[in-house]
Amino acid sequence: MIRNKYQIKGVVQGVGFRPYIYTLATRFNLSGFVYNDSQGVTIELQGKVCDIELFDETFLDELPPLAHIDNFEKHPIPLKDETTFCIIESIHEENMGKTTLISPDIAVCMDCLEDIKNGGKYHNYFATNCTNCGPRYSIIETVPYDRKNSSMKSFTMCESCKEEYQNPLDRRYHAQPISCSHCGPKLELRVKNEELKIEGDEIFSLTARLIKEGKIGAFKGIGGFHLVCDSTNDKVIKQLRQYKNRPTKPFALMCKNLAQIEQFAFISDKERELLTSKEAPIVILEKLKVNSLKLKISNNLAPNISKIGCFLPYSPLHHLLFEHLESPIVATSANLGDEPIITKSEDIAKLLPFIDFILDFNRDIVNGVDDSLVQIVDEKIQILRLGRGYAPKVITLPFKLSQNILAVGGSGKNTISLAFEDKIIISPHIGDLDSFKAFEYFTRTIETFKRFYDFKPDIIVCDKHPNYETTKWANELKVKNEKLKVVKVQHHLAHIYSVKAEFGLSSDYLGFSFDGTGYGEDGTIWGGEVFVGDVRKYHFKQIKLLGGEKAIKEPRRVALSMLFERYSLDEIFSKRVLKHRTFDLPLLKTFTQNEIKLLHQSYEKNLNAPLTSSVGRLFDGVASLANLTHFQSYEGEAGLLCEMAYDKNIADSFPYSLENNIIDIEFDFFDRNLVSKFINTLVDIVIKIAQKEQLEVILSGGVFQNKTLLELVIQKLKDENINYHHNQKTPTNDGGISLGQIYYAFSHLHD
Ligand SMILES: [Zn+2]
Ligand SMILES: [Zn+2]
Ligand SMILES: [Zn+2]
Repeated sequence: MIRNKYQIKGVVQGVGFRPYIYTLATRFNLSGFVYNDSQGVTIELQGKVCDIELFDETFLDELPPLAHIDNFEKHPIPLKDETTFCIIESIHEENMGKTTLISPDIAVCMDCLEDIKNGGKYHNYFATNCTNCGPRYSIIETVPYDRKNSSMKSFTMCESCKEEYQNPLDRRYHAQPISCSHCGPKLELRVKNEELKIEGDEIFSLTARLIKEGKIGAFKGIGGFHLVCDSTNDKVIKQLRQYKNRPTKPFALMCKNLAQIEQFAFISDKERELLTSKEAPIVILEKLKVNSLKLKISNNLAPNISKIGCFLPYSPLHHLLFEHLESPIVATSANLGDEPIITKSEDIAKLLPFIDFILDFNRDIVNGVDDSLVQIVDEKIQILRLGRGYAPKVITLPFKLSQNILAVGGSGKNTISLAFEDKIIISPHIGDLDSFKAFEYFTRTIETFKRFYDFKPDIIVCDKHPNYETTKWANELKVKNEKLKVVKVQHHLAHIYSVKAEFGLSSDYLGFSFDGTGYGEDGTIWGGEVFVGDVRKYHFKQIKLLGGEKAIKEPRRVALSMLFERYSLDEIFSKRVLKHRTFDLPLLKTFTQNEIKLLHQSYEKNLNAPLTSSVGRLFDGVASLANLTHFQSYEGEAGLLCEMAYDKNIADSFPYSLENNIIDIEFDFFDRNLVSKFINTLVDIVIKIAQKEQLEVILSGGVFQNKTLLELVIQKLKDENINYHHNQKTPTNDGGISLGQIYYAFSHLHD
C-alpha cells in the first residue's frame, strides 16, 4: 500500500474535475479524498502500488472536456486509516495566493440540448447547464468557484436539483449554476407599451413572432444583452442602423444551424470546426455569389463587403427560440455607440428606448463579455476579438516570475493583462476607452481580476502615449504608490511582443508592425515600422495627416496629402493631361476648390498636419484614390474595401526604395489596378527586408487583420523558406497590446 498527494493546477474547478477523480478512484479501488482550494485541486490517494500506477496512467487521458491541466505535483505521504474515497468541500486557505484559473463561458453541450427536448425535468428550460457547459466567468464574483461566490447564490436549489448536485456520478455533480424551472432563474418577455409580462413556454413562439413582424428586441445572453431583428427584413435593419448610428459597420448573424448558413455563405472545414466548437465564436465567412444564394438575407447587413460574420446558438435560450424561427437573426451587442455591452436589466430600456421588446431573466451577469470574433487565415484561427469562450485567456510561461505585473493596454479595443507566477492572463475585450462608461468598465475589470487572484501589481506597464487614459491612470497610481514601477512600451513594439508572448519567442527577430496609429518614440505617429530586435530600423516614408484625427475618419484627406506630396496645386487644378493621366480623380470632387486650397496651406505650413508612417493610413489613401470610399464610418472600413477590390490576377507591383531605411513606394495614383498593386508591393517589401536581414519574421498590428494581405505574405514567406510567426490565438489588433506590454516588461526586467 502507498499514499500519494497530488496538487493540480489549471482550469480544474467547475468543470467536473472532482467527480472525475472520484469515478477513477472508485474504478481503481483507491481510498482518499479530493477537494478544491485556491490553487486548484488537491487529491490524496491510497491503495496498491499497481492500482495507483493505473490511476496515474489514466487520469490525464480521460479528462472532462473543459478541464485543462497546466501542471501537477505528486509526492508520497504516510498511510491513513480509511477505506473509502470522498469529495470534500472547498478549502480556502487565507494565506495562500489564489491561482485557480477561471473557465470562460462555454456553449451548451449536446447532452443538455437533449435534456431540453426530452420532456423531462429540463424540458424547455432556457438556463439548463451542466459541468461540461454553461456560464462561468460571466457569473463569478470571486474564487473558489462555488455557487455562493456566483450570481446563482440567490437561487435555492430544489430537492431534485440538490440530488443531482450531490451525486458524484451525475453530470451535474457540483455544477454550480444548476437549476430548473422550479428553482432557477425565470424568463420573462416584456413588450413595449404593453402591461403584460409573458412567462412560460409561449415566450418562445411569441418572441419569434415579434421578430418576424419586424420588431427590434433585446435578448439577455450569457455575457450581456444582444440587439436582435430579422436578417431578411431590409426595413428593420435600416431602422436599427439609424437608431445605433451605425451606417455601414457589418452586423453578425445568429443562424439556426450550419445548413442554414450554407444557404448564403461558404463554410470551409476549419470554419465548420470553429462554428460548432464549445467556444462558439462569430466566424467571418465568405458570402455566396448572388446567383447561388438559397436564402436572401438583407444586403444591408455588411454593405459592399463579400464577408459576413455568423455564429450558432450557444445557450439553451437561443436553441429554444430557433425552434420557432426560419431565418437567421441579426444579433449584435446591445450598447450605445462604442460603450461597453449592457448587462443590467434596468439599463436596457433606459439606454435603448427604441427597442420593442425585451427577453430577460433574473440571473445577474457579474462580468460582461462580448462575443468573440474570429477568422481563418492560412487554415489557422485568427482571433480578432477575445471574448466569450476564449477569455479570460491564459498563457503559461516556461519560468516563474518573482514580481506581479499588470499591463493596461492602449486605448482602442482595450484589454488588460496580468502576470504572476508562471502565468499571463488576458482579460476579455473591454473596448474603446473613449467614453466615461468604457473607462469605468476598464477599472472595474482590473478590480475583478485583482480580486480573482489576490493580485497586487509590483510593476505597471502602459503605452508611451501621454494622453491615453490608461497611461494617465498608470501615472496616477505611481503618484499614490512610490514603490510601484511603471514601464512604458512603444505601441508597435508591443504589437510585436504580443506574438513573442503567444509563441514564447526569445530570440532575435525582424518585426513588421503594420498598424493604424500609435505614439512613436520621436513624438510622430507611427504605424509602419520594421524592428530589428527592439530597434526601429525601417519605417514607411511619413505622410501628413491633414486635419489630424479627422483624417482617420476621412480617407480622402490622406489621399489628398499623398497627391500634394507629388503634385503642385496648379497641376491638381489643371485637369490637364499629365503623362497621359488626367486629374479627374473622384476624390477631388468631394472637396470644394477652396477646401483643397486651405488644406494645401495647412500641408505647406504644417498646420494640424501631423506626420505618420502608418500603413493603415496608406490603405485609407489608396481606397480613396481608387474611389472605393472617401469617408469611413468604422475602423478598418477602407482596408476591408481594398480587400474586396484586390484582383488576384494582377501580379504587378509598384517600385519602391529602401534608401536610408525609409520605405518609399512610388505609387502611380492613376493606375486602374492601384489597390492590387499596392497590396502586392507590401508583400514585396516584407520579403525584400526579410531576405536582407536574415532573421525570423514576426507580423503584427491591425493591418494584418487584412486576410488577403496576410495570406499573400505568408505564401511568399513559405516560398522563400523564411520562418515566420503571426498572432493566432491573441489579437493582432490593439486587443493584443496589453499582452505585448507585459511580455516586453518581463523580457526587460533585468535591463
Ligand atoms: Zn451541458
Ligand atoms: Zn431545481
Ligand atoms: Zn495598434
